[in-house]
Amino acid sequence: MTGTIVGGNITPHFSRAEMACQCCGTYHAANMQKLCGWLESLRRDYGPLLVNSGHRCPLRNIQEGGAWNSQHLESLAADILVNRDSDRFKLVRLGIFHGACGVGIGRSIVHFDLRSTAINVMWTYPARG
Ligand SMILES: [Zn+2]
Ligand SMILES: [Zn+2]
Repeated sequence: MTGTIVGGNITPHFSRAEMACQCCGTYHAANMQKLCGWLESLRRDYGPLLVNSGHRCPLRNIQEGGAWNSQHLESLAADILVNRDSDRFKLVRLGIFHGACGVGIGRSIVHFDLRSTAINVMWTYPARG
């Protein structure tokens, strides 16, 4: 199911407003529930998480320069804002510990996704982040 932003939370600490597509408010409900459940477990170890990007519709994904098969399109990815080197290390370590399958490391964000491929991947963002 996809829907529009009507406020409220998906899980106790993650709202529709921050997780839905920033241009149209859509997301995949079942995948988003899974993603936010995962983020809750990460949050318990790490502390509060600031989500910069959750679900993206195809148009938004192009505007953001996302990969054609970006997990953001499936509501299975979140970009977390992080600036300090020590916080980035802690976040990446805990994300992998909690089972992230894709990890992208930028200067100001860490991308986590729950892709269902056999091979886990990690990449860096050259200029932006
Ligand atoms: Zn959109
Ligand atoms: Zn991302």
